[in-house]
Amino acid sequence: MSRFWNSLVSKLEPYVPGEQPRVQNLIKLNTNEHPYGPSPKVLAAIAGQTNDNLRLYPDPTAQELREVIARRFGLTAAHVFVGNGSDEVLGHAFHALLKHEAPILFPDITYSFYPVYCGLYEIAYKAIALDEEFKIRVQDYLPDGQAKAGGIIFPNPNAPTGIAQPLTQIERVIAGNPDIVVVVDEAYVDFGAQTAAGLIARYPNLLVVHTMSKAYSLAGLRVGFALGHPDLIQGLDRVKNSFNSYPLDRLALAGAQAAVEDQIYFEQARDAVVRSREALTRDLQSLGFVVLPSAANFIFVRHPAHTGESLASALRARHILVRHFKLPRISNHLRITIGTDEQCNQLVAACREILK
Ligand code: PMP
Repeated sequence: MSRFWNSLVSKLEPYVPGEQPRVQNLIKLNTNEHPYGPSPKVLAAIAGQTNDNLRLYPDPTAQELREVIARRFGLTAAHVFVGNGSDEVLGHAFHALLKHEAPILFPDITYSFYPVYCGLYEIAYKAIALDEEFKIRVQDYLPDGQAKAGGIIFPNPNAPTGIAQPLTQIERVIAGNPDIVVVVDEAYVDFGAQTAAGLIARYPNLLVVHTMSKAYSLAGLRVGFALGHPDLIQGLDRVKNSFNSYPLDRLALAGAQAAVEDQIYFEQARDAVVRSREALTRDLQSLGFVVLPSAANFIFVRHPAHTGESLASALRARHILVRHFKLPRISNHLRITIGTDEQCNQLVAACREILK
């Protein structure tokens, strides 16, 4: 190993994504993809790209897509930043907006990418325990609850619990910390939580981050965006331009724009997932599972009589993939993505067999 390895790189703990299996015939309920494809208009927009389009570089400002997104939220393009999936957008936010003298705050348990970004950008952090019901305790994020912070980030709904905070509570955190940036990661917000985007006009310290991987069913296209005061967006732009000044390729720009413009399809597909979530929750509860209240496209469950690991491997043996985290407080839980009704029924049947 070269001596350079011993520097920063050897200390980095990389993010470990959920498994993307190569074998076919698995019911894949492990990485929160949407069970239905994106709007047919997305495919048409991608297929409509011409030879000449692909010969030329894309728009480095992604102006049209930013305008379409802005309109949906009653904002202007100056309030919108786009990137290759919200993981990239979040990376830029950590790099540009959260690096301060004091440690940043996020919940313990939350999206496991946050500590990875902290390692990458050498940001100190303090992970604040959730309460006994796995909820974020808002008062812990107010200046008198903790020492002065260098920034705050949390998902709403939280992951992998799926529990949402009401907007009034989120506003308390933003209003209570006017001197630092508060990032609300709304990857799953469309499945049942309230977006904080409407607060942007009042709070220049708020950055709201969205993905098109979940409710828009475009995980394969890699599109995410941030909404915030134009000063925050400029901060993200500065970091982005230092890496790769083209935020998205032409296929992603065309596909994402078509998806946002087809709100009717978006709402129908999203509502179908929400209905399946409620049905799956009831079915698993009837088998004795404890299911946390979810506002996302997944549920977080445990069964009092089984370990998470044994359930995950028994399901895997039945060709069903779910997510198990080997973290102390949640090692008995499984995170299950909402699939089609047929997939959910197969999951319930498999659980019934395992629990016999
Ligand atoms: N935030 C949260 C809370 C997530 O669970 C995910 C998905 N793993 C992301 C952001 C990133 O999503 P993407 O990069 O696909 O936009």
